Amino acid sequence: MENKGKVLMQKYEFGRLLGQGNFAKVYHARNIETSQSVAVKVIEKEKVLKVGMIDQTKREISGMSLVKHTNILELYEVMASKSKIYFVMEYAKGGELFNKLSKGKLREDVARKYFQQLISAVDFCHSRGVYHRDLKPENLLLDENGILKVSDFGLSALTECKHQDGLLHTTCGTPAYVAPEVINRKGYDGAKADIWSCGVILYVMLAGYLPFHDTNLIAIYRKISKADYKFPNWFSPEVTKLLSRILTPNPKARISIEKIMTNPWFRKGFNSKPVHNKVEKALVPVDIDAVFSSEANNNAFEAKKDMAKLTNLNAFDIISLSSGFDLSGLFVIPIFRLGLTNRIVTCYYN
Ligand code: ATP
Ligand code: MG
Repeated sequence: MENKGKVLMQKYEFGRLLGQGNFAKVYHARNIETSQSVAVKVIEKEKVLKVGMIDQTKREISGMSLVKHTNILELYEVMASKSKIYFVMEYAKGGELFNKLSKGKLREDVARKYFQQLISAVDFCHSRGVYHRDLKPENLLLDENGILKVSDFGLSALTECKHQDGLLHTTCGTPAYVAPEVINRKGYDGAKADIWSCGVILYVMLAGYLPFHDTNLIAIYRKISKADYKFPNWFSPEVTKLLSRILTPNPKARISIEKIMTNPWFRKGFNSKPVHNKVEKALVPVDIDAVFSSEANNNAFEAKKDMAKLTNLNAFDIISLSSGFDLSGLFVIPIFRLGLTNRIVTCYYN
């Protein structure tokens, strides 16, 4: 394993590879000082960065506050070398939620518990103007106590590209969790698109299989667009009713998060006590050019001074690094095909 045993920033000793996505590899690592386990997501800049597009309008974002939520994977710090970006984040020891499904569908009360946690996380982010846009099993992790942790909140700028590719290359996987309006590229409401994905996730937990499946992508797209699916006979009438309201193709007619949270099936056993705390931190603006272009050492495992470091950021900060909560400025990826503009390149450290 290429990184095993290496020490990042004299602080994190790399262990085994936990998983691999389209843009990143995720490693287990240990904080040498505290022995705390963390996960480090390593992104090859080259894969996501279009050189020459860094010189964009810069804007400072002030008065940012750091927020945490029990069901959102915490991002501890972000570092960058010349060629890579490192996201040091909470380690989800329990792995992917959907590994549980390999043993079969979940009981309704178990599925409801996860769905409640998922909706809590999504509601929390939506109320702050942050949309996930890539809710899918790989991004639903569990900690050592079996608590759901949603990962990659706000990192969806990276996956926009993949969705685009997904239309062109079937190897990019199934769009099974994506809302019809996203597939149709009509321009969409991020909140409603996330709700659709939550509905597909709930369906899969209860059924043990996808609501929309077929032998080819076009057929799957067609089914999604028409919400062409059936409920297995073991789904209760209450959950069937709720899912019908979520898996509604017209986003305007689709149920809102607020309504989901007042739904009787959803509310059963729901612990609605506050699950987040807010920590205010002083943030000092710094030019992100240092991170992207420049003198940062090519070898990420070099001394601290060679690394550009963005410290004490969580997912919201990363999102906030770019205007409109759009990461396309931070990760300057070839999104021009999607007609998105590149944005802000100002960020903070302390
Ligand atoms: P995408 O390319 O859309 O991000 P992905 O979510 O599968 O796809 P990554 O986010 O790179 O890819 O993660 C790869 C895998 O690593 C995940 O599927 C998960 O199994 C594992 N993983 C990611 N983050 C953590 C974490 N904090 N703790 C434990 N395992 C993780
Ligand atoms: Mg992920």
